[in-house]
Amino acid sequence: MSSPIIIVGAGVAGLVCAIEIHRAGRPVMVLDAESEVGGRVRSTTRDGLVFDHGFQVLFTAYPTLRSYLDLDALALRKFLPAARIVQDGRASLIGDALSDPSLLIDTVMARAVPLGDKLRLLALRRFAQQLSIDECFSARFAGVSTREFLASRGFSASVIDGFFAPFYGGILLDRTLATSASVLLFTFKMLAEGDTVVPAAGMGALTKQLAAKLPAGSVRTGVRVQSLTVGDGRVTGVVLASGELLPAAQVIMATDAPAAARLAATAGVQIATPSGARGTTTLYFTTSGASPIPGRALWLNASASAVISHAVTITDVAAEYAPRGVSLIAASAVGDAADRSDVDLETAARRELTAMAKAAGDAAAAAKTAALSRAAVWRVPYAQFAQPPGWREHRPTIACGIPGLWRASEVLHSSSLEGAARGGQDAARAVLQPH
Ligand SMILES: Cc1cc2nc3c(=O)[nH]c(=O)nc-3n(C[C@H](O)[C@H](O)[C@H](O)COP(=O)(O)OP(=O)(O)OC[C@H]3O[C@@H](n4cnc5c(N)ncnc54)[C@H](O)[C@@H]3O)c2cc1C
Repeated sequence: MSSPIIIVGAGVAGLVCAIEIHRAGRPVMVLDAESEVGGRVRSTTRDGLVFDHGFQVLFTAYPTLRSYLDLDALALRKFLPAARIVQDGRASLIGDALSDPSLLIDTVMARAVPLGDKLRLLALRRFAQQLSIDECFSARFAGVSTREFLASRGFSASVIDGFFAPFYGGILLDRTLATSASVLLFTFKMLAEGDTVVPAAGMGALTKQLAAKLPAGSVRTGVRVQSLTVGDGRVTGVVLASGELLPAAQVIMATDAPAAARLAATAGVQIATPSGARGTTTLYFTTSGASPIPGRALWLNASASAVISHAVTITDVAAEYAPRGVSLIAASAVGDAADRSDVDLETAARRELTAMAKAAGDAAAAAKTAALSRAAVWRVPYAQFAQPPGWREHRPTIACGIPGLWRASEVLHSSSLEGAARGGQDAARAVLQPH
C-alpha cells in the first residue's frame, strides 16, 4: 500500500485538511502530540463540569468551518448578541438590536456609548457586512491598526477605550487595539451574519465531530513528531519522539506556527512564522447560589486597570456545562495580566466580579462572589498569534520550499477557527493538485 499523506497536528486546520484528502480518496494519517484531538479547541469534563480549554466561542457565520460541521448535531447554545460594559461603577448593556430587537431599548439607553458613536457602530456593522471576507483582509484595511481605523471613522476616544478595547479583549484577546483593522472588520461581519454560540457539550465537541468524519485508525494521538526525514532532496516522512519512523507521500504541518518552524528546520528549511502570541488565562468558578454576573451576554470590564477582561456565567448560555443547580462562571485575563499567579488572578477576579455586579445594581454582589469556589484555572500562552498591521504581506505559504513539505494552518489566513479551517482546506487543495 502506498504511504499516506501525513498531517502533523489534529487541530481544526489539520482535521479539515485530512477530511479533504480523505474525500479525494487518498490515504491520510493525522498525528498529534496531545492525548486527544482538537488542539486549541478542546474541553475537559470533570465532576459534571465542562471546562473549555480557555473561554472560547464559535461564530456560526464562519463559512468554511460551517461547511464541515453538522451544526444541529452540536446542539448549539446562543449568547445574546450583546455585551454588558462595566465602566466607572456603571454597567450598560449594548447589543445588536438588528439581530435581536429586544436589545433596542437597553442599547439606545446605554450610557457607555454616546449617541453619535452608536450610529457609527451601526454604520460600521453595515460597512463590514457589505465587504466579502477577502475584502476585509485586503491591503486597504490590513495595513492599518484597529485604533487608527476606528479613529478614522470618527469614533470618540472614550468609546475606543471604553468599548472597543474590552470588546477586542473579549473576542480577540487584545485590548491594545494594535491588531490589524482587517480582523475587526472580519469579526464585525461574522457577528452580524450569524450567532455566537457554544456546543452544549463544550467547544471540544466541534473538533471531535470533525475527527469523526475520518476513517478509523487514521488519527493517532499521543505521538509527538520529532523531526522530518529527507531523501533525494524531498521530505519523505517523519520520526516520532519514540524513534518510530513513518514514511509519507507528503507531510503537511498543521501545528501552531512556532512548532512548524522547529519541524521545518529539521529538514534544513526556514519558513516564515508570524511573531508574537496572544495568551489568555481563564478562571472557572462554581456556585450553587445565584451568579453575581448572570445572563447570556458577555460582561466586559472596561476599567483601564482591569485584570479580568471579560467574564460570563457560561451555564446561563449552556446549562449543560454543569450539573443542575450549579452555575459555572468563566472569567478571563488577557495580555500581561494572564501571566499573574493563580492566587493573584483569583483575588483580582473576586474583587472585579464584585465590582461588575455592583455596577449592575446588585447590592448582594460581595456575598455572591464570596460564595464562589474556584473550580479550575486554564492557561493558554499561545491562544492566537499576533496580527499587527502588515502581517498578511509576509504571510507564510502553503509550499515550504522543499518538495514533499506543506503547511496547513491558521497562519495562512487569520488566527481564528475560520482561519484554521481555510488554512486546512487551501492546503489540501494545493497538495492534491498534480505536481
Ligand atoms: C482560549 C482561546 C480563545 C480563542 N478564542 C477564539 C474565538 O473566540 N474565535 C475564534 O475564531 N478563534 C479563537 N481562538 C483561536 C482558535 O482556537 C485558533 O485560531 C485555532 O483553533 C487554531 O487551529 P490550528 O489547527 O491552526 O492550530 P492548533 O489548534 O494549535 O493545532 C495544532 C496541533 O498541533 C499539535 N502539535 C504541535 N506540535 C506537534 C508535534 N511536534 N507533533 C505532533 N503534534 C503536534 C498540537 O498538539 C495541536 O493539537 C481562541 C483560541 C484560544 C486558545
